[in-house]
Amino acid sequence: MLRRQAYRFELRPSGQQLRNLRQFAGSCRFVYNKALALNTARYNKKEKRLGYAGLCALLPNWKREHPFLSEVPAQALQQALKNLERAYTNFFEKRSEFPKFKKKGQRESFRVPQGFEVDKGNGRIKLPKIGWLRYRKSQEVLGAAKNVTISESCGKWLIAVQTEREVETPLHRSTSVVGLDWGVVRLYTLSNGAYREQCQPLKRYLPKLAKWQRRMARKRKFSRNWKKAKAGIAKLHQRIANIRKEFQHRSSNEISKNRAVVFVEDLQVRNMCKSSKGTKDQPGKQVAQKSGLNRAILDGSPFELRRQLEYKTEWRGGLLYAVPPQNTSRTCPVALGGCGQVSADNRKTQAKFVCVKCGLSANADFISAVNIREAGLASLACAQPWHAVSASWQEPTEGIHSLGVEPVGIPGL
Ligand SMILES: [Zn+2]
Repeated sequence: MLRRQAYRFELRPSGQQLRNLRQFAGSCRFVYNKALALNTARYNKKEKRLGYAGLCALLPNWKREHPFLSEVPAQALQQALKNLERAYTNFFEKRSEFPKFKKKGQRESFRVPQGFEVDKGNGRIKLPKIGWLRYRKSQEVLGAAKNVTISESCGKWLIAVQTEREVETPLHRSTSVVGLDWGVVRLYTLSNGAYREQCQPLKRYLPKLAKWQRRMARKRKFSRNWKKAKAGIAKLHQRIANIRKEFQHRSSNEISKNRAVVFVEDLQVRNMCKSSKGTKDQPGKQVAQKSGLNRAILDGSPFELRRQLEYKTEWRGGLLYAVPPQNTSRTCPVALGGCGQVSADNRKTQAKFVCVKCGLSANADFISAVNIREAGLASLACAQPWHAVSASWQEPTEGIHSLGVEPVGIPGL
């Protein structure tokens, strides 16, 4: 199994190296913005957009016009153009907004795809046109380094080393199978009844953030005190991000360690977070409540949890399996002794599930998790060829027994 893993370290640049890092990141931003401006102008003239190759062909000219670009590794400039190409692709495939101009001091970064050298033993790295740089070696780098990304965050310069290595496919120590449902109140609920409440650091820090923002608004722009307030805001954002990150990793570790197969709903976070404002002609309803909901979802970010679960289960020899969302929230689950009735009325409120036919009631997220698990087992059983040839493939219980799972009970009811 090919294992791709990134390692992140804090760099310890000298004064001259620090100036170089800033200069490289700045030049990459310059090239990115220049290419974006060029393509915008071409679009207005109804000309075809220049792709990565077309833009790269312009680089020699740009270097003649702007000699400072020659002081930067050429590969890093090309990578900036590659980033723009990806931003366009993400926009066309409706994954993100239209590419924006990069501003100075916001996510300064550049990537070096080759010509670097990692000295793992001594904790230093050689970058083209900079030389050897020290980093804080907090862990060993395993595998072959494929590329490095250097970025700035709250005054610190970080390096991410992307590696690849061949590892033996592990056998998961557990045989248990679980269904997982994302929620707004609960980050996730498992089909065995376990759940984790949402961690909302943004909510917790919002008053403090507002205070800093008010302070910044009162200061003269670019003055010393304005910069202080700005740094305070950035630091707070960093802290919020770190809390969120730690929480998500803890959650995904726990699930992937103890469960061999995790079924999830193939949910588009984008749909959950659709802009609630609407358009001028069709204004949205309950805008304030919905934007609150969006904030809660983004804060808990099921998308990030899903991403982590995907690679962590794989690294541990498990599997994350997505099932199409189909009535999982409104089916009365037979697995819990319910009647199997499908009705939208079963879920009158966001939190509670009450079957209109047999009266079975439980937490709504829990019901969904159980249904997701059943749907997952059924579709896995169909996907396996030995089930397809035998007559028993329609029986999802066949799949349950062969995976060695105990039937779920109803906890806390
Ligand atoms: Zn029922």
